[in-house]
Amino acid sequence: MESLPRTIVSGTNALLLDGKAVAQRIRVSLRARVEVLAARGVTPCLAVMLVGDDPASHTYVRTKANACESVGIRSLVQRYPASVSQSVLEAQLEAWNADPTVHGVLIQHPVPPPLDEGALMRRLSPRKDVDGITPTSLGALLTGDPAFGACTPLGILTLLDAYEIPIEGKHAVVVGRSVILGKPMALMLLNRHATVTICHSRTRELASLTRQADILVAAVGKPEFITGAMIKPGAVVIDAGYNRVAGRTGDVGDVDFHAAAQVAAAITPVPGGVGPMTVAMLLQNTVLAAEQQA
Ligand code: NAP
Repeated sequence: MESLPRTIVSGTNALLLDGKAVAQRIRVSLRARVEVLAARGVTPCLAVMLVGDDPASHTYVRTKANACESVGIRSLVQRYPASVSQSVLEAQLEAWNADPTVHGVLIQHPVPPPLDEGALMRRLSPRKDVDGITPTSLGALLTGDPAFGACTPLGILTLLDAYEIPIEGKHAVVVGRSVILGKPMALMLLNRHATVTICHSRTRELASLTRQADILVAAVGKPEFITGAMIKPGAVVIDAGYNRVAGRTGDVGDVDFHAAAQVAAAITPVPGGVGPMTVAMLLQNTVLAAEQQA
């Protein structure tokens, strides 16, 4: 990848980690890979299962479908009412598992209860788990087996790599331990030889831990939860948060960006940081799945 523009956050010394720019470059390279597949008669296809009427989920799915289209991936969105039965969803997953024209499958989270999202995940073939969040794919992070990486943490690692930020030997602190974000993030950083601390809602003296971080990943889901005082001078700060706040337009991250940028050496914005990288990783995993299955 040709070198990235290095933008400094105005009024600070912090490098802006521009996820939008990196994601755009990834999309350009994916388009070329899609053309190679097309020459072999293969169109990569992502099938999406969307259950219920959660407006945020509908927006995310639309964004992902548009992103697929932008690189030449076919997207197939199957929508179901929340009243659908578990067996109908499982039958659909089995059909996609067996369909050679479908290369990747995404089960949009959350699947509304009483439907069993975990059971759906277990039905999905690991070969098509391009979201990287089924038990097999997550287990592969522990064992080192090949699998698709969970998109948000994989996007964060890819962003750090794009800016040539070293990980090995660094103290990485991950705030949040969700199955889709905090836990796989911690394991991916560990696999890259960082020393990793995982924090969560029962962690004591949180700020004393975050202030030790060379790389701080905020995956909390609380607007501007990480303050400038919680950051070590010179740290790399990654904000995975997307929060809706009444009275404010747009999404607000988990980090107080302006305060943090005064202290950090590098920081991701919200929007334009982790979000576009997550979508780019979904596209990348889908193209890789098509290459593997073709
Ligand atoms: P989640 O499942 O709600 O997990 C939040 C984590 O934060 C939990 O592990 C929780 O600890 C921890 N936490 C809550 N309060 C805390 C506190 N006071 N101190 C320390 N830790 C605390 O959320 P998620 O799905 O991981 O998402 C986290 C954020 O990332 C959200 O803003 C979400 O919108 C965003 N996100 C962004 C993307 C993207 O593409 N950019 C993708 C996914 C998620 P416990 O485990 O103890 O409850």
